[in-house]
Amino acid sequence: MSIQEILDHIHLEMSRRDNRGQVASYIPELASVDLNRFGLAVAMADGQVYSVGDADVPFSIQSISKVFTLALALGKVGNKLWERVGREPSGNAFNSILQLEHEQGIPRNPFINAGAIVVTDVILASSSPAEALAELVSFIRYAADDSNIYINDAVALSEKQTGHRNFALAHFLRSFDNLDHAPELTLGTYFHQCAIEMSCRQLALAGRFLINASGMPQLIAPGRVRRINALMITCGHYDGSGDFAYRVGLPGKSGVGGGILVTVPGKASIAVWSPGLTPLGNSLLGAEAVQMLAQQAEWSIFG
Ligand code: GLU
Repeated sequence: MSIQEILDHIHLEMSRRDNRGQVASYIPELASVDLNRFGLAVAMADGQVYSVGDADVPFSIQSISKVFTLALALGKVGNKLWERVGREPSGNAFNSILQLEHEQGIPRNPFINAGAIVVTDVILASSSPAEALAELVSFIRYAADDSNIYINDAVALSEKQTGHRNFALAHFLRSFDNLDHAPELTLGTYFHQCAIEMSCRQLALAGRFLINASGMPQLIAPGRVRRINALMITCGHYDGSGDFAYRVGLPGKSGVGGGILVTVPGKASIAVWSPGLTPLGNSLLGAEAVQMLAQQAEWSIFG
C-alpha cells in the first residue's frame, strides 16, 4: 500500500470510532473544539506531504511547542540546562506538583509542565517575552517553510485566567530558586507558546528539523536532534510515554489540543490531530492512528 492509501484507510477507520475521548475542558477555549475533527499528515524528508481529513485546519499545538522551546533553550545554554531540569520519565501527571517537592524544585524532564516552564524561563534570560515569542514563531515558520503560523491570543488568555495549577507550579519553582523571572512573566510567555496554532500539514513539515535526514538543511546540531528524540520517546506522552513507545515505536510529543508530532528518524515527520484525549491528556485516536501508520508503513526505530 502507498502512504496515501494507508492514510485513507486510517481515516476511514477513525471516522467509525464512537469513543473519541474527551476534549480538554480545563482550558475553556479548547472545550468548544469539535470532537469529530481528525487530521493526519506525513511530511517526507524531501518535503513531499501526504495528508487526509482536517490536515489543513489549524489547532492549538499546546505542549507540542515544548520540543521547539527545548531546541531553542539548548541552543542558548547547552548542557547547562540540565542543571535545572532532569531527563527522566516522570510517571506522574503532566501538571503534577507532588514530585517537584520531593525533588527539591528540579522537574523530572522538560516536557512535563514544571520542566517546560523552566525551559521557557531559560529562553527569557536573553530576551523579553515578546522577543522570545517572536524568535519561537520565526523558528517554527522557518522549519515549516510557511509564514502563515500565529499565536491565538484568546487561547492564551483563556489559559491564563484558569491556569491556577501552572501558577502554583511556577511559584513552587521560584521558592526553590529555579525560576529567574516573575511567575506572571514566565507563564505569560508559556501560555502564548502553547497557544500557537498549526495545521497537521504545517506541523509535519516543521517536525522535519527533528529527523536528521541527509540532504536537509540542519536547523540544530544532529547530536541535539538525537537527544530531543530520546526525550520524546521516554517523556513525550507524560505518564503514558511507555505505552506510546510500546505501541508505536517512534518518538512523539503530544499536546492537550489533541495533536501529536511523531518523528521517523531519517525518513519522515508525522502530525496527527484528534481533539479527544485519554485521562492522561494524550490524544486517544491520534495515538491509534499513528500506531496503525507505523505498523502498516513498517516504521519503528526498533527495526
Ligand atoms: N498549556 C497546557 C498546560 O500547561 C499544556 C499541557 C499539554 O498540552 O499537555 O496545561
